[in-house]
Amino acid sequence: MEYTENLQIEKSETSKINSVNFNKLDFGRVFTDHMFVCDFADGKWQAPKIMPYQSLSFEPSARVFHYGQAVFEGMKAYKDDNGKIFLFRPDENHARINKSAARLAMPEFPKNYFFKGLEALLKLDSEWIKPGVGNSLYLRPFVIATEPAISASPANSYKFIIICSPAKSYYNSPVRVLIAEEYSRSADGGVGYAKAAGNYAAQFYPTSLAQQKGFQQVIWTDANTHKYLEEAGTMNIFFRVNDKLITAPNNDRILDGVTRKSIIQLASDLGITCEVRQITVEEIKTAARAGELKEVFGVGTAAVVSPVSAFEHKNELFEIPELENSYGQLFKKSLLNIQHNVSEDKHGWRYEV
Ligand code: PMP
Repeated sequence: MEYTENLQIEKSETSKINSVNFNKLDFGRVFTDHMFVCDFADGKWQAPKIMPYQSLSFEPSARVFHYGQAVFEGMKAYKDDNGKIFLFRPDENHARINKSAARLAMPEFPKNYFFKGLEALLKLDSEWIKPGVGNSLYLRPFVIATEPAISASPANSYKFIIICSPAKSYYNSPVRVLIAEEYSRSADGGVGYAKAAGNYAAQFYPTSLAQQKGFQQVIWTDANTHKYLEEAGTMNIFFRVNDKLITAPNNDRILDGVTRKSIIQLASDLGITCEVRQITVEEIKTAARAGELKEVFGVGTAAVVSPVSAFEHKNELFEIPELENSYGQLFKKSLLNIQHNVSEDKHGWRYEV
């Protein structure tokens, strides 16, 4: 055992790294040698630990299994050609997991533990982060309610964990999407803005119905009228009408995405107009019919930018031809270059580990 201040580190005796084919990674299935764990008990977060990645055991009455008190984050670590490791705007993920936790009546996680844990974990598992634009280590911090009690009330004990999974962002093939007319992802006053596990479970069924119709994703609309376009399953969404971008404003139904806010800034840097306002399904259909809808793309940490090649609404299908001077591809390249320390970071988004 080693101790770094109050962080206890138990190193894995062997590494699985040689059994992993880094050229053929299936997203989120392979995990690094270590994980970070911190327990909340007696009203406070206890001493954090790094330990070999392993199974954990919980009583069947652990509250997370019954009432879904679970929140998570998704972020990535990158390595440059000199072996330096970087995170991208990690303060945002820390603030967001605490915002999510507060909404689910869970305790907030201290910033120094979050950063100390991430840094120690990344240093231990640094071999798992491959240099080169497109390679990354996906980081999954999450918090679950572990108290063994099934009365429907907030738990008194929790576990904060970080696990890491190597990822490769290949060329993303364009996706076909269905605009939601019946189901909703979130509602006013609800938990849509939180990265709460249940938000994702609730999307699986409507998304599988869309998949049966040949669409990979659902674009969610507002729950009250289904007239306004909001976001995709795990991505925020941008529409390009002629040379102008439009994206929905943040509200309590939409996740405040780090990629979205970075792209709004990059657009402003490049002098590209980006309107942050409500967008009606009708205006996008009208623009598509007039040939003015040039691009639609989802944005998020996992894929950075994911182009949309077609959408359907009320049984009407709209194809969006591929564009040569795509804003989506431009933003993807700019973000990857900042993340991998290839280009200048004028907004101070990189965080060196
Ligand atoms: N919306 C939802 C519902 C998401 O799960 C995500 C992924 N975190 C996003 C948007 C994109 O957020 P980010 O750019 O911070 O990854």
